[in-house]
Amino acid sequence: MAFSFKPALRKLGLAPLKLRWLLIAACALGAWSLLHAGHEAPSAPHPGAPDVAKQASAAGVAAPGSVSRGPASAPATAAAQKKPVESALFGLATSNVIVNHNDTLDGIFRRLKLRLSDLASLRGLPGLKARLDSLRPGESLRLMHRDGSLFGLERRLNEAETLKVVREGSGLKADVLQNPLEARPRIVRGVINSSLFEAVGAAGGHDQTAVALADIFGWDIDFVLDIQPGDSFVVSYQELYQDGVYVKDGPIQAALFINQGRQYRAVRYVDPEGNAHFYTPDGRSMHKAFLRTPVEFTRVSSRFNSARLHPILNTIRAHKGVDYAAPIGTPVRAAGEGRIRYAGPKGGYGNVVEIDHTRSIVTVYGHLSRFAKGTRVGQHVTQGTVIAYVGMTGLATGPHLHYEYRVNGVFKNPQTVSLPDAEPIDARWRPDFLAHSAPLLACLETPLGSALVAR
Ligand SMILES: [Zn+2]
Repeated sequence: MAFSFKPALRKLGLAPLKLRWLLIAACALGAWSLLHAGHEAPSAPHPGAPDVAKQASAAGVAAPGSVSRGPASAPATAAAQKKPVESALFGLATSNVIVNHNDTLDGIFRRLKLRLSDLASLRGLPGLKARLDSLRPGESLRLMHRDGSLFGLERRLNEAETLKVVREGSGLKADVLQNPLEARPRIVRGVINSSLFEAVGAAGGHDQTAVALADIFGWDIDFVLDIQPGDSFVVSYQELYQDGVYVKDGPIQAALFINQGRQYRAVRYVDPEGNAHFYTPDGRSMHKAFLRTPVEFTRVSSRFNSARLHPILNTIRAHKGVDYAAPIGTPVRAAGEGRIRYAGPKGGYGNVVEIDHTRSIVTVYGHLSRFAKGTRVGQHVTQGTVIAYVGMTGLATGPHLHYEYRVNGVFKNPQTVSLPDAEPIDARWRPDFLAHSAPLLACLETPLGSALVAR
């Protein structure tokens, strides 16, 4: 790595050690100011599986769909251990319910033999109906009750908010408790010996960071073929904590990857309309407008070929696309943003989807087993949207995706066609982008030789 700023700092009389701490402090400050500028919320509500597992174990409930029931004074649940006095005082029972598919609050009330009139008054509280309908399968609810009467209800609305209902006098009263996530800046740097995963893990990062790195740089670097021992990376992101307990990693803020001596930098930017993308430091998109391969985990079973013997028709015909062998049901993704112009059966293609893109580009996906929900003519799709599933409808000898890429009606080889770049940073946001990305990118330049992990 080259540190162009080093000589300048020597002139200022700063030792490398001081420099290192200065940079780390600057990074932390940058991250802090970002967080507090309210530019980007540090967390988003997400009913993800790890969270569910955590909630379930916190509530002392083993299996989804189960209802643990018992006097709150017994040490059966975390809640019981937390508030034994209050519970004993009122003789309340606490039920921790893990929501099942198709569960409704009505059904849960009936299962617990709670008064439906209480549910009606619950729903009648201002703003509560919307917060109580649409239960998420796997989430946990806590209900406090006695003799069939509801005395309290707790629902985690998202990672930072909990709805709490308590009985007050003759009625119920609802509050939303705020419990915001605290973000701690984290910089992880590593050198690859065998694999990216191993290197990220050795540096104290999680697998998801390795996946994210491969995602961000995957357009420039082939992470299967190009990675070599000695390649290195620096990545900055935030660890999110709640009440001092680690919850999850936030998205990568900035990253540097050095592959065979070549440096690649990326920085995440959320524009004022809420769209998040990764850009190069000068504002070019990190990705292309089209995916090279619209299915994952596949091998090419037939290449683009102007004259091949057709396996079924047994005649010499051009193969004007590429075939990706994949199991039936493998998701097929829209290669780029566009509008679906056809979705249905069409001769030898079998079930096929055709998408119109800008620049007179059309992509075609054939032999599909079925279409995804929402795949219909006129539908707008973004890059990576699942539009259908691999099959072998039409003239196909085995399950595969037949994929075509046409420009102005001319068939191009999808494996080699030069793909247009995705849109660079919008000119309107450029000054804001540069202001936000400068401190994030500076974080990547902390000198090598320092501790591998800077917290
Ligand atoms: Zn084909």
